[in-house]
Amino acid sequence: MAIEQTLSLIKPDATRRGLTGAINARIEAAGLAIVAQRRVRLTVAQAEGFYAVHRERGFFADLVAYMASGPVVAQVLEGEGAVARYRELMGPTDPAKAPSGTLRAEFALGLQENSVHGSDSVANAATEIACFFSRLDIVG
Ligand code: ATP
Ligand code: MG
Repeated sequence: MAIEQTLSLIKPDATRRGLTGAINARIEAAGLAIVAQRRVRLTVAQAEGFYAVHRERGFFADLVAYMASGPVVAQVLEGEGAVARYRELMGPTDPAKAPSGTLRAEFALGLQENSVHGSDSVANAATEIACFFSRLDIVG
Protein backbone atom coordinates (compact mmCIF):
# COMPACT_ATOMS: atom_id res chain seq x y z
CA MET A 1 0.00 0.00 0.00
CA ALA A 2 1.12 3.55 -0.71
CA ILE A 3 2.58 5.96 1.85
CA GLU A 4 -0.12 8.55 2.52
CA GLN A 5 -0.59 11.63 4.65
CA THR A 6 -3.76 12.45 6.57
CA LEU A 7 -4.90 15.40 8.67
CA SER A 8 -5.65 14.69 12.32
CA LEU A 9 -7.25 17.15 14.73
CA ILE A 10 -7.20 16.55 18.46
CA LYS A 11 -10.45 18.32 19.29
CA PRO A 12 -11.21 20.79 22.12
CA ASP A 13 -12.75 18.19 24.46
CA ALA A 14 -9.46 16.29 24.39
CA THR A 15 -7.04 19.25 24.60
CA ARG A 16 -9.08 20.59 27.54
CA ARG A 17 -8.55 17.30 29.39
CA GLY A 18 -4.81 17.17 28.68
CA LEU A 19 -5.05 14.14 26.39
CA THR A 20 -2.71 15.29 23.60
CA GLY A 21 0.21 13.18 24.82
CA ALA A 22 -1.90 10.07 25.40
CA ILE A 23 -3.44 10.34 21.92
CA ASN A 24 -0.02 10.96 20.34
CA ALA A 25 1.36 7.85 22.05
CA ARG A 26 -1.48 5.79 20.58
CA ILE A 27 -0.92 7.27 17.11
CA GLU A 28 2.78 6.41 17.20
CA ALA A 29 2.14 2.93 18.62
CA ALA A 30 -0.16 2.32 15.65
CA GLY A 31 2.79 2.95 13.31
CA LEU A 32 1.81 6.42 12.11
CA ALA A 33 4.48 9.15 12.16
CA ILE A 34 3.51 12.67 13.34
CA VAL A 35 5.34 14.69 10.67
CA ALA A 36 3.81 18.10 11.52
CA GLN A 37 1.93 19.43 14.55
CA ARG A 38 0.46 22.80 15.63
CA ARG A 39 -1.81 23.84 18.47
CA VAL A 40 -4.30 26.48 17.29
CA ARG A 41 -7.54 28.11 18.39
CA LEU A 42 -9.94 28.12 15.43
CA THR A 43 -12.17 31.13 14.89
CA VAL A 44 -15.85 30.46 14.23
CA ALA A 45 -15.27 31.37 10.57
CA GLN A 46 -12.36 28.91 10.30
CA ALA A 47 -14.41 26.12 11.93
CA GLU A 48 -17.30 26.85 9.53
CA GLY A 49 -14.92 26.61 6.60
CA PHE A 50 -13.33 23.39 7.82
CA TYR A 51 -16.67 21.60 8.26
CA ALA A 52 -18.47 23.38 5.35
CA VAL A 53 -19.54 20.00 3.93
CA HIS A 54 -21.90 19.70 6.94
CA ARG A 55 -23.41 23.22 6.72
CA GLU A 56 -26.94 21.96 5.94
CA ARG A 57 -26.96 19.54 8.88
CA GLY A 58 -28.95 20.31 12.03
CA PHE A 59 -25.87 19.91 14.22
CA PHE A 60 -23.71 22.38 12.22
CA ALA A 61 -23.99 25.48 14.46
CA ASP A 62 -23.29 23.41 17.58
CA LEU A 63 -20.37 21.66 15.89
CA VAL A 64 -18.80 24.98 14.85
CA ALA A 65 -19.22 26.47 18.34
CA TYR A 66 -17.63 23.38 19.88
CA MET A 67 -14.68 23.36 17.46
CA ALA A 68 -14.02 27.06 18.26
CA SER A 69 -14.48 26.58 22.03
CA GLY A 70 -10.84 25.77 22.79
CA PRO A 71 -7.52 24.78 21.28
CA VAL A 72 -7.18 22.02 18.72
CA VAL A 73 -3.95 20.22 17.87
CA ALA A 74 -3.63 19.85 14.11
CA GLN A 75 -1.29 17.15 12.87
CA VAL A 76 -0.11 15.55 9.68
CA LEU A 77 0.17 11.78 10.08
CA GLU A 78 2.19 9.75 7.60
CA GLY A 79 2.41 6.05 6.92
CA GLU A 80 1.21 3.19 4.76
CA GLY A 81 -2.49 3.65 4.08
CA ALA A 82 -2.52 6.46 6.67
CA VAL A 83 -6.01 7.75 5.79
CA ALA A 84 -7.81 4.44 6.42
CA ARG A 85 -5.45 3.39 9.17
CA TYR A 86 -6.14 6.53 11.22
CA ARG A 87 -9.91 6.24 10.64
CA GLU A 88 -9.66 2.70 12.00
CA LEU A 89 -7.65 3.86 15.02
CA MET A 90 -10.23 6.62 15.72
CA GLY A 91 -13.26 4.34 15.49
CA PRO A 92 -16.72 5.41 14.28
CA THR A 93 -18.17 8.91 14.83
CA ASP A 94 -20.39 7.72 17.71
CA PRO A 95 -18.18 6.49 20.57
CA ALA A 96 -21.02 4.27 21.80
CA LYS A 97 -20.48 2.22 18.64
CA ALA A 98 -16.68 2.30 18.76
CA PRO A 99 -14.79 -0.96 19.32
CA SER A 100 -12.65 -1.06 22.43
CA GLY A 101 -9.08 -0.02 21.76
CA THR A 102 -10.10 2.80 19.43
CA LEU A 103 -9.39 6.43 20.37
CA ARG A 104 -13.06 7.35 20.44
CA ALA A 105 -14.01 4.35 22.61
CA GLU A 106 -11.28 5.31 25.04
CA PHE A 107 -11.44 9.11 25.09
CA ALA A 108 -14.63 10.54 23.50
CA LEU A 109 -17.35 12.11 25.62
CA GLY A 110 -20.17 11.79 23.07
CA LEU A 111 -21.25 11.98 19.44
CA GLN A 112 -20.11 15.59 19.08
CA GLU A 113 -17.26 15.69 21.59
CA ASN A 114 -15.54 12.73 20.00
CA SER A 115 -11.94 13.84 20.63
CA VAL A 116 -10.39 13.39 17.17
CA HIS A 117 -10.88 14.13 13.50
CA GLY A 118 -9.28 12.28 10.61
CA SER A 119 -9.55 12.98 6.87
CA ASP A 120 -11.87 10.58 5.04
CA SER A 121 -10.01 10.37 1.70
CA VAL A 122 -6.58 11.09 0.25
CA ALA A 123 -8.02 14.01 -1.76
CA ASN A 124 -9.72 15.56 1.29
CA ALA A 125 -6.54 15.00 3.30
CA ALA A 126 -4.56 17.17 0.87
CA THR A 127 -7.16 19.96 1.10
CA GLU A 128 -7.37 19.77 4.89
CA ILE A 129 -3.58 19.65 5.38
CA ALA A 130 -3.31 22.83 3.31
CA CYS A 131 -5.72 24.56 5.75
CA PHE A 132 -3.14 24.24 8.54
CA PHE A 133 0.33 23.64 7.08
CA SER A 134 2.65 24.74 4.32
CA ARG A 135 5.03 22.24 2.74
CA LEU A 136 7.96 23.56 4.78
CA ASP A 137 6.11 22.69 8.03
CA ILE A 138 5.92 18.99 7.15
CA VAL A 139 9.10 17.14 8.05
CA GLY A 140 9.09 13.37 7.54
P1 ATP B 1 -14.64 13.92 11.62
O1 ATP B 1 -15.02 14.54 10.29
O2 ATP B 1 -14.59 14.92 12.75
O3 ATP B 1 -13.40 13.09 11.51
P2 ATP B 1 -16.50 11.80 11.16
O4 ATP B 1 -15.98 11.82 9.76
O5 ATP B 1 -16.46 10.52 11.94
O6 ATP B 1 -15.77 12.89 12.05
P3 ATP B 1 -18.70 13.43 10.25
O7 ATP B 1 -19.96 12.81 9.77
O8 ATP B 1 -17.73 13.99 9.26
O9 ATP B 1 -17.98 12.34 11.20
O10 ATP B 1 -19.09 14.54 11.30
C1 ATP B 1 -18.18 15.55 11.68
C2 ATP B 1 -18.28 15.79 13.15
O11 ATP B 1 -19.56 16.37 13.44
C3 ATP B 1 -18.25 14.53 14.04
O12 ATP B 1 -16.95 14.07 14.30
C4 ATP B 1 -18.92 15.02 15.28
O13 ATP B 1 -18.04 15.83 16.07
C5 ATP B 1 -20.03 15.91 14.72
N1 ATP B 1 -21.28 15.17 14.47
C6 ATP B 1 -21.52 14.26 13.49
N2 ATP B 1 -22.79 13.80 13.55
C7 ATP B 1 -23.36 14.43 14.61
C8 ATP B 1 -24.65 14.42 15.21
N3 ATP B 1 -25.63 13.65 14.73
N4 ATP B 1 -24.86 15.20 16.29
C9 ATP B 1 -23.90 16.01 16.77
N5 ATP B 1 -22.65 16.10 16.25
C10 ATP B 1 -22.38 15.32 15.19
MG1 MG C 1 -15.80 13.59 8.62
